[in-house]
Amino acid sequence: MKKGIHPEYKTVKVTCACGNTFETGSVSDEIRVEICSECHPFFTGKQKFVDKGGRVDKFKKKYNRD
Ligand SMILES: [Zn+2]
Repeated sequence: MKKGIHPEYKTVKVTCACGNTFETGSVSDEIRVEICSECHPFFTGKQKFVDKGGRVDKFKKKYNRD
């Protein structure tokens, strides 16, 4: 068996900007995301992700929220 020809598909930890972590399969060692199913408004129905560079401000304007 030769090794190193194909990237090894393994379970890696995904870290989200909201602080949530979960695992998924990937060839990477670590994955960082800004939005996950725990904090995305589409999944949660509410906003709770941290403000990064005016993202939330834009979001508020778009949906006319305070
Ligand atoms: Zn998240």
